[in-house]
Amino acid sequence: MLDLKTIPKAHLHLHFAGSMQEKTLKELSYKYGVKVPDSFYNKPFDSIPATKRGWHLFQELYDIASSCIQTEDDFRRIIIEEGLQDKNDGAKRLEMQINPTDYLHIGKTIQGVLDLACDQAKITSRETGVEIAVIAATSRTASPKIAEDIAKAAINYAGDGAGEIVAFGLSNDELAGKTESFANAFKIAKSAGLKSVPHGGELLGHEHIWQIVRALKPDRIGHGVRATTDHFILQKFAMEKIALEVCPTSNVALGVFKSQLDVPIRELLGSGVKFSINADDPLLFKYRLLDQYKILREKNGLFDRELIRIAKMSIKSSFASSSQKRKWYEELEAIKY
Ligand SMILES: [Zn+2]
Repeated sequence: MLDLKTIPKAHLHLHFAGSMQEKTLKELSYKYGVKVPDSFYNKPFDSIPATKRGWHLFQELYDIASSCIQTEDDFRRIIIEEGLQDKNDGAKRLEMQINPTDYLHIGKTIQGVLDLACDQAKITSRETGVEIAVIAATSRTASPKIAEDIAKAAINYAGDGAGEIVAFGLSNDELAGKTESFANAFKIAKSAGLKSVPHGGELLGHEHIWQIVRALKPDRIGHGVRATTDHFILQKFAMEKIALEVCPTSNVALGVFKSQLDVPIRELLGSGVKFSINADDPLLFKYRLLDQYKILREKNGLFDRELIRIAKMSIKSSFASSSQKRKWYEELEAIKY
């Protein structure tokens, strides 16, 4: 059986604080006296009764993790540890999503947080061999003005390589905020060459995906799994090469799907739409990048050829340079299975 670790892959949907290692959270929360609920360590998120989890609990835990990052060194440590983790999981490329306003408490401006993120992404890329690019993101709960400020700061690092900002994202509770109100921020980002990668089609259905397509002109969509209920949108994604960033274990943990078998991986494989599989927030959902591939093999019954196909799609839908993508793709083509 193929060792899934050896498959070159791209990790395209991962949030900064949500990537933190559990031991790091333990250490930092102890150091700063931040109270972390015991249940956080004892239970995977999806073992909490459905009525008690949902978005608000998730966001509360995410914010606790963010608040434990209090210094420049803590911030750098998150990127270093994720680089090593992804190297171990067989990733060649990581596009890490960071909302700079979550870290102003370390004494930096929006631009200062992005400077720090890009600097460390560059260093860790060199040290691990995983090419780490940054996605600057805003939150649906933030004002459009803040979103525009983040976009303006992000464009100073526009590029597709290690330590550069490749895209602009929109995250947090899909039911919050008004999608159209962020259109100007995306316009600013796109005008400097950044790609558009809003979340959507996770907590809301295909009607909202259409709204996102019209207002934010996405190049990739965070999640987008609910597009499978709309044949026309799948057709549009396939034709216009708008890829999805699918996060199977996150979807089950947040109740988007009842079980791993309900995640529409086979429908997506047959749809002609490109997609990657990703960890989203492994600190909370307990499964990292390599785990996603293992789970699709073990629970969804995917064959090695299908897992390789997903890895190929992850490389293709990354925003890396075409020469890098070609190199990793050739490595994938050479795998015997
Ligand atoms: Zn996400």
